[in-house]
Amino acid sequence: MDTSVAAAAADVAAGETAQEQQADQPAPVKSLSPSRAADFMTCPLLYRFRTIDRLPEPPSPEATRGTVVHGVLERLFDLPAEERTAEEAVRMVRPEWDRLLAEEPDAASLFDSDDDGSALQEWLTSAEALVQRYFTLEDPRRLEPAERELYVETTLESGLRLRGYIDRVDRAPATGEIRVVDYKTGKAPRAGFEQRAMFQMRFYALVLWRLHGSVPRLLQLVYLGSGEVLRYEPDEADLRATERKLAALWSAIERATERKDWRPSPSKLCDWCAHQALCPSYGGTPPPVPDTPVVPDAEADAPSPRTSGADL
Ligand code: SF4
Repeated sequence: MDTSVAAAAADVAAGETAQEQQADQPAPVKSLSPSRAADFMTCPLLYRFRTIDRLPEPPSPEATRGTVVHGVLERLFDLPAEERTAEEAVRMVRPEWDRLLAEEPDAASLFDSDDDGSALQEWLTSAEALVQRYFTLEDPRRLEPAERELYVETTLESGLRLRGYIDRVDRAPATGEIRVVDYKTGKAPRAGFEQRAMFQMRFYALVLWRLHGSVPRLLQLVYLGSGEVLRYEPDEADLRATERKLAALWSAIERATERKDWRPSPSKLCDWCAHQALCPSYGGTPPPVPDTPVVPDAEADAPSPRTSGADL
């Protein structure tokens, strides 16, 4: 990551006072989720806006649809196996949307100007299509997941805490081997970008390995947008490399935090960024970096399913 010498020099003087003020405070927790790690790798300024400034973001149709579809696929397995049909799953979409609205009333703002209800209907239909496509990729009547929406957390020897939500964990009855499954409502990555997409899954595999002592047998990304499945068999060397990568990533985050140097990194993903108006790459000016927390704390990095583009 690039660093700013000027910003660093200016922060040395300011930092001494800040350190004195924080001397009596408990040390912040070093914590990363796959979403926040992906934010920093995509754009350090985006990470800052979400984790340090904690700026609110309006709901987006894509992320909200992702939440509804994930909810349906999670609850589908509450049904007896023989009832897990595409028709039944499609019927669950509207109630899942109603459930989300009850929990997050702000989501209704997506359809504020939808006077005749046609935009909502079109959006629900697109969610139903994604749910239907799931059935071309797996047969849920033949699956009994060991876990769904599983929260996992572990602390590495370095003190870095890793945590996140896993969509589904399957366990082979005969061997006990683990398959980690994640649903994506977007399309599968282009050839050559699969490994980047697998980063999140390696993150989960590392956490499970550290928690239970065995490497998951298979990592599986199910892309409902394009009807494709990516599979990967990790090994210990992979997961050690992932651990080193996360340590390097955290060091970069700490440097950026100490120097208050959060560079924008424009890319195609800017189209989905809620903070363009504050981004120098788009003529904006970020607000001053908050004095506290000086290092991201645990709550700022609290795991939150499907809150970033990486989670779709
Ligand atoms: S608009 Fe792009 S460059 Fe700017 S903060 Fe958002 S993701 Fe980063």
